[in-house]
Formats: sequence, C-alpha cells, structure tokens
Amino acid sequence: MAAHLRLRGALSLVTGGGSGIGRAICVRLAQEGAVVAIADCDEVGAAKTLQGLPPGDHEALPVDVGCAKSVGDLVARIQARYSRPATVCVNCAGITMDEFLLKQSEEAFDAVLRVNLKGTFLVTQAVARALVASNAPGGSIINMGSVVGKVGNLGQVNYAASKAGVEALSKTAAKELARYNIRCNTILPGFIRSPMTDKVPQKVLDKFAAMVPLGRLGEPEDVADVCAFLASEDSRYITGASVEVTGGLFI
Ligand code: NAP
Repeated sequence: MAAHLRLRGALSLVTGGGSGIGRAICVRLAQEGAVVAIADCDEVGAAKTLQGLPPGDHEALPVDVGCAKSVGDLVARIQARYSRPATVCVNCAGITMDEFLLKQSEEAFDAVLRVNLKGTFLVTQAVARALVASNAPGGSIINMGSVVGKVGNLGQVNYAASKAGVEALSKTAAKELARYNIRCNTILPGFIRSPMTDKVPQKVLDKFAAMVPLGRLGEPEDVADVCAFLASEDSRYITGASVEVTGGLFI
C-alpha cells in the first residue's frame, strides 16, 4: 500500500485497463487516491479491474482506441460523468501480431500500428484538447512504449515500429504541451508477465529471463509503480523522458 496519497482526487484515464499492466496501473493509481476511468475494448476485463479497486468513484468504460469516434465518445463520457477532464492519462492499450518480416502481412502491420500508435495518438490528442479547453490546464500523460522499440526484436517488426513511434510521439507531445503544463513521458517495459507475454513460448521467456541482470522477468506492478511516480507531482520536472523498466535488459 502506498505510503502517501500522491494522487488524491486526481481523475485518471487508463486505456488497456482491463488486463495485465493496465490493470496493475489502475490498482496502483487508485491506491494513491486517484479516481480511475478504466477504458478497454475488453469490457469484461475492465469490469473485473473495477471490482478489484479500492473504494472510489471509479468507472469501467468501453473504447476502441484505434477509432477516433470511439475515443471522442470516451472523453465526452468522462467529462459528462465527472464534470472535468482526466488530468492523468495512461495509454496502455496494445496488441501484438508477431511474424517475421519476410512473412508479415500488410493486415498485421496495419492492425498493430492502428492500436499501438494511432490509438496512442488519438487518446493523447483528445485528452490534451480537453485539458487545454479547461480552465486550469495541467496534467500528466504516460504512454506505454517498449524497449523493443529501441533495440528491435525477432518477429516483431510491426510491434517494434509501433513502439518506436510511440516514443517519438511522446517527445513531440511533451514539447508542444509543456506550455500548458501538460507533461508527456514514455515507459519502456522489458519483458513483463501478462496475458500478452503468455503467448510467447516458455523457452523464449526463459532465454530473456536469463539475460536480465536483475535475474527475473518483470511483473505488472514493477511498471505500475513507475507509472504512479510519473503521474504524480514527484515527477513535476520530468517531461519527454523515456523510462526503461527492464531489470537492466539491453543496457
Ligand atoms: P494485455 O494484458 O494484452 O493488455 C492489453 C489490453 O489492451 C487488453 O485488455 C486488450 O484487450 C486491450 N486492447 C487491445 N486493443 C485495444 C483497443 N483497440 N482499444 C482498447 N483496448 C484495447 O497486455 P500487457 O502486457 O498488459 O500490455 C500493456 C501495454 O504494455 C501494451 O501497450 C504493451 O504493448 C506494453 N508492453 C508490454 C510488455 C510486456 O512484456 N507485457 C512489454 C513492453 C510493453 P484484448 O485482450 O481484448 O485485446
């Protein structure tokens, strides 16, 4: 349990909040006193996350982050429900469709870019617009990249490209939004246990675990703790940064 309620009353939007890392982030932000809007295309998963949160005025909401209309509806519903925009936004929705470059289909490339990169763009833009339009702009946007976006990875040409794009998008947003006191940072997780990595063959996970200087794969809570720091005023002078949460992998 958090020692301090660093996010007391802060309205937070977490996409991909219905599973894995996003769910752990919802829990951590709520433990810090935030009100959490859990947004996911998996409505059952989002409802399950909601059930596991400490008491608060939290809500689970459906969204397809790759669709501008759906994202617009989400932000409008949050405004109507809470009479204020989210001041913390975590873009955690993401997918993989792994295949080697020589075999990758155009459809798989487009699908991964649509959710991971375009989705991050649409949500970041909609949330930033709502904040700028409010009387007291200021906020923290946290985007989920991946260390794979820096170093590449076999079978992940679409995913690696999307996550490199997320990092560049975040740095640009940080430059443009600083004048409104809106910060934008990227977390670059390494290999974190979640339903996403459950799809990776165990022998591949074992290989990566053996390469991690801290000697283990990451847990969603390892990422959530960093996210809470970036959401809070403890990181008030940090923007445009990329924070690796990898146990030292690829340093
Ligand atoms: P996860 O357990 O699969 O969670 C991702 C969530 O996003 C799922 O609930 C998924 O729903 C949802 N989602 C997918 N497409 C969506 C859309 N169009 N609109 C709204 N929600 C959508 O994966 P995770 O491991 O927690 O990953 C969370 C984030 O961290 C992702 O951005 C991922 O790329 C990133 N990351 C993960 C790792 C890792 O090792 N796990 C490493 C680096 C970065 P469905 O299940 O229905 O698709």
